[in-house]
Amino acid sequence: LIAPNDLDAWWLPFTANRSFKQRPRMIARAKGMYYYTPDGREVIDGAAGLWCCNAGHNRDEITAAIQAQAQELDYSPAFQFGHAGGFTLASRLAQLAPGDLNHVFFCNSGSEAVDTALKVALAYWNAKGQGSKTRLIGRERGYHGVGFGGISVGGIVKNRQFFGTLLAGVDHLPHTYNRAEQAFSRGEPEWGAHLADELERIVALHDASTIAAVIVEPMAGSTGVLPPPKGYLKRLREICDKHGILLIFDEVISGFGRLGTAFAAERYGVIPDMITFAKGVNSGTVPMGGVLVREGLYKTFMNGPDHMIELFHGYTYSGHPLACAAALATQDIYRDEKLFERAKALEPVWADAIHSLKELPNVLDIRTIGLVGAIDLASRPDAVGKRAFEAMDRGFQEYGLMMRITGDTIALSPPLIITEEQIGEIVDKLTKVIKAVA
Ligand code: PMP
Repeated sequence: LIAPNDLDAWWLPFTANRSFKQRPRMIARAKGMYYYTPDGREVIDGAAGLWCCNAGHNRDEITAAIQAQAQELDYSPAFQFGHAGGFTLASRLAQLAPGDLNHVFFCNSGSEAVDTALKVALAYWNAKGQGSKTRLIGRERGYHGVGFGGISVGGIVKNRQFFGTLLAGVDHLPHTYNRAEQAFSRGEPEWGAHLADELERIVALHDASTIAAVIVEPMAGSTGVLPPPKGYLKRLREICDKHGILLIFDEVISGFGRLGTAFAAERYGVIPDMITFAKGVNSGTVPMGGVLVREGLYKTFMNGPDHMIELFHGYTYSGHPLACAAALATQDIYRDEKLFERAKALEPVWADAIHSLKELPNVLDIRTIGLVGAIDLASRPDAVGKRAFEAMDRGFQEYGLMMRITGDTIALSPPLIITEEQIGEIVDKLTKVIKAVA
């Protein structure tokens, strides 16, 4: 047995947290908006865990649902049986999704959801007798998890450079961030819709008959919070329609109220052919992901005699009863507490609060959208550690604030239950910590 204070021994088996050894950041419990350290310090959660605990931490309703489910039906093999929770959840999600996205493939993470969506796209074109449509198009600075599909279409070179050839035939659209044109934006920047036209360039290069799908995060999250320029996603949809290319929205972060609507697709009035989701589906409690698929797409490949996806794709834990029970309880909370509407109503308050940090030292840019915020901090010329990393570490250790960082960017995405007072608390703590790392 490893003693709780023997951090050297803990470090060895659990390798996820690379910066852990220099300075451990340990938490013991969480409730509502707060984490608590083993020595009882309160830390406000500015990141909803990892963009996932949208209903807040340790909700009694979710805990009770998981417990009751475990005592009733602990596991159900998705290939042999159905269970009420799985069907009920699928139909709840279908109702929540825009348009005719009314079929769900469940899996266990955002990465699996992305791989599933890419496979569905390829299966669809095969079923239509257009098996030559195999090229996939992602976007620079896109993040789609760590599976082989996700790193292939993802736009982070560092994430794919060590892993061989990956998927063949992948192109990347340019990312949509331009500080000179979009500095200190609130919501969707005015500049940049024309960047969607780059898709026309790729089509001209490879011909639409070879292109299966485009996958984008409506708002790129993990690479620094890059909201879509006004009109950009509509333009992408139009070009995809014109050339017969599927459009996949990766809503692993933007789903479940983060941008003030159930899915970002609703905010932008754009109906993609598939939506990947995970994280917020059950507020981060039990691993779960999935793909919502349009009716016509689903029917096409399910009707092909050799293209029944059940025969070649699915996971042992797809639609796990505990994950479904947690998700149903979470969806009840979202509905009963109107948390998506709450996020929408709080957006201007949140934007004012985060943008008020504009004059602090080393702040290069601030972006807000929905209940998401990003603060870019200038890196240090001497390169002795990144300023943003130090802010994150000291924020936790000294000021009781948990935030996420990506590169030189502080990313914020609090649980949707946050109050105006707690927004004030986050801003207060941020002010102190950004000054402290000046
Ligand atoms: N897609 C997006 C847009 C994400 O933000 C993430 C995770 N941050 C993933 C996919 C991967 O999800 P997971 O870590 O659950 O595999």
